[in-house]
Amino acid sequence: MNDVITKSLYCSLLFCDRCAWLSRNKPEKYVEKKKEDVLQNGKEVGEYAKELFGNYVNIEFNKNINVMIERTQECVERNTPVITEASFRYENMFCSVDILKNYPDGVEVYEVKSSTEVQDIYLDDIAFQTHIIRSLGYNVKSANIVYLNSNYVRNGDLELDKLFIIEDVTDEIIPREDKVSINVRRILSSLRSPKEVTNDIDSYCFKPYECPFLEYCSKDLPKPNIFDVKIMKITEKLKYYKAGKISFEDLINEDINEKYLQQIDFELNDKEDYINVNNVKKFLKTIKYPLYFLDFETYQQAIPLYDGVSPYMQIPFQYSLHYIEKEGKELKHKEFLAKEGTDPRRKLAESLVNDIPLKGTVLAYNMSFEKTVIKNLAKIYPDLSKKLMKIHDNIIDLMVPFYNRDYYTKDMRGSYSIKYVLPALFPGDPSLNYHNLEQIHNGGEAMNAFSNLVNYSEEERLTIRKNLLEYCKLDTFAMVKIWQKLNEKCGKNINISI
Ligand code: SF4
Repeated sequence: MNDVITKSLYCSLLFCDRCAWLSRNKPEKYVEKKKEDVLQNGKEVGEYAKELFGNYVNIEFNKNINVMIERTQECVERNTPVITEASFRYENMFCSVDILKNYPDGVEVYEVKSSTEVQDIYLDDIAFQTHIIRSLGYNVKSANIVYLNSNYVRNGDLELDKLFIIEDVTDEIIPREDKVSINVRRILSSLRSPKEVTNDIDSYCFKPYECPFLEYCSKDLPKPNIFDVKIMKITEKLKYYKAGKISFEDLINEDINEKYLQQIDFELNDKEDYINVNNVKKFLKTIKYPLYFLDFETYQQAIPLYDGVSPYMQIPFQYSLHYIEKEGKELKHKEFLAKEGTDPRRKLAESLVNDIPLKGTVLAYNMSFEKTVIKNLAKIYPDLSKKLMKIHDNIIDLMVPFYNRDYYTKDMRGSYSIKYVLPALFPGDPSLNYHNLEQIHNGGEAMNAFSNLVNYSEEERLTIRKNLLEYCKLDTFAMVKIWQKLNEKCGKNINISI
């Protein structure tokens, strides 16, 4: 069979033979996680990285890889100094090198990544490429990874030499390069195996990324099982799994962390809700009127478009604010959503300091996110910094009673994330169900919707903007309801009139 192993196939099938077999024989079991943004970022970063190398000749994509290989060959023979997507094949292996520097005495290989650090799998990726090129008789002078510098802060024109880091990994990849042939033979034999290959679950199912076949491979495990224990590290889960401690029944008598045990115990024994009223009361006492419930939506740019922005920095474009000015007063709402295609930060910061006074409490859920966003705004706008930092200092985290397990129910499934806490506290309440919203149901969708807003018609934009506002508003309304529920559990009923 004429199988061709590409660099992405090599990296995804490298660690598990079963993965190779399933990808060919049971592709319908592949459950893909959304990768659209990563791909988008990858393309954009790749284009900017090429500019680092001056003039270049690009080998256009062609379904027929032989065409790409021939064009590459022509460029090499013509002594083209920089070739992008330079394509090579050796035996069953094929790769397109992101950037190839071509010298009379050899080549330099550059693999571009849109991340801000070198991950282990990148070394396998580039080792695969250099193995092919060396096997074809080229002298590989160096192998390099080009990635984004997270410390770079844009100030004026984009400085590509500061935005990117080029790391020489020539020596590091030698041991991996030596194993490429063996690995490829193994992958090919698994792909072609008439019988299902059956690797057991192990660290390769979770690292470098969660395997898309995990649902299929864990289908025969008891439910719930060790992999459902929420906040436990994967290495610890695997330790129990390998020791045969898999079901919650197996785990209940193990000497494990109290928090994990609480989840197991509550679910296994169908336990009643737990609340430490004294601790929750103490927490509620720290909250002072006027009361503000704040939530930001942010998006990220791999390549910073604005001054003061680093790669992947959270850029706020929207907030929702529910508030109650005095005890017993009605619940009010304010919101901000930036105009698409503009730097949203200044107007958002101005609006925020107008909407939130310097006294009282600002409640956020998982406050480190909101605090970081506000701190970054304060850094770039010194004239607003004092007010912004006051808001920052007045933030209290509504997550605390759940993080501390002062309030826990079995439906929280070991998590303190609002995604679990909210439905656990208000089961079946349609007004708090994100699935009932139009189009935008989570932060990721909000981020994508805002980033792409400029590409829509005026009419579509209005609809998306309305849906973004509805989504963010539900986030803060959910916080109001959680705060109200905490009070109710401590014997204090709060009527919320809107
Ligand atoms: S889930 Fe694990 S065992 Fe199953 S195919 Fe993926 S890596 Fe292999």
